Amino acid sequence: MIISGKELSVKLKREMAAKVAQLKQKYGRAPHLVVILVGDDPGSQSYVRGKAKASEEVGITNTTIYKDAGISQEELLGIIGTLNADPEVDGILVQLPLPEHIDEPTIINAIAKEKDVDGFHPLNVAALWMKTRPCTVACTPQGIIRLLDEAGVELKGKRAVVIGRSQIVGLPVAKLLLDRNATVTICHSRTRDLPAVTRGAEILVVAIGRPKFVTADMVSPGTVVIDVGVNRDPETGKLCGDVDFEAVEPIASLITPVPGGVGPMTITCLMENTIECFIRSMER
Ligand code: NAP
Repeated sequence: MIISGKELSVKLKREMAAKVAQLKQKYGRAPHLVVILVGDDPGSQSYVRGKAKASEEVGITNTTIYKDAGISQEELLGIIGTLNADPEVDGILVQLPLPEHIDEPTIINAIAKEKDVDGFHPLNVAALWMKTRPCTVACTPQGIIRLLDEAGVELKGKRAVVIGRSQIVGLPVAKLLLDRNATVTICHSRTRDLPAVTRGAEILVVAIGRPKFVTADMVSPGTVVIDVGVNRDPETGKLCGDVDFEAVEPIASLITPVPGGVGPMTITCLMENTIECFIRSMER
């Protein structure tokens, strides 16, 4: 069985569009998301286009600010400061990665936590780990939990293995799984005998960034496999995940495809975060 993030995101976006129309009536304007893109990386440009398209589908006002790769950190901080102070801006997203001369943590820290639709601000991350209520939770981990819920996967008491310990995927998804009472193991590049660990998984989340890294011998029959990876297959040049889909799909009970799995859910959760930031701002 394939879990289609694409199909679920269509359904969720339709529901959000109805909600946004109501909110517009109630508050006199739509939620407003501002995306800042620095430089001309084709991957980042494509992500930013995807965010603009989803905003349009849902009825969120989207402004994309394009800046040359040579922009100084001070100028970027100045733009963020202006957006933070603008009551008609509800969400701010700086597309990562940034050029090397700009310090990413400084930029993320500068975004008001109430407008941090990516859920990367240290105070939002801290709130997630301290189990106080964060303004926002990172979109990809949130999207993964939504996919598992929609597929009817019970998480309580399950053995979940997460490969990858990044701040944006591995760690927060592990925490969300833990909060849902899964028993979580986090693996990384120094994990010894990784296949032995992954074979013990009932739910396997893979976020490493290596094409088709997880092979059939690493997965036990009946495992639920969530593939977060977005890679180019070195042989075909096509988009592929971190999991060897053809080999693992017959063994897994459920599996997400790449493309069409976790990716669309990330953007959908970004839309949800923007709407939530808008509602909180209006009710403040
Ligand atoms: P990242 O920051 O590069 O982290 C990769 C993690 O994988 C690290 O923790 C690393 O371990 C671990 N790793 C690397 N090689 C490994 C190996 N051979 N065995 C075990 N663990 C290994 O990557 P990320 O930002 O989390 O992204 C991971 C993938 O997800 C990428 O393909 C990215 O494009 C994709 N992604 C997709 C979405 C989406 O919406 N679909 C969103 C975000 C990211 P160490 O910590 O030991 O180095």
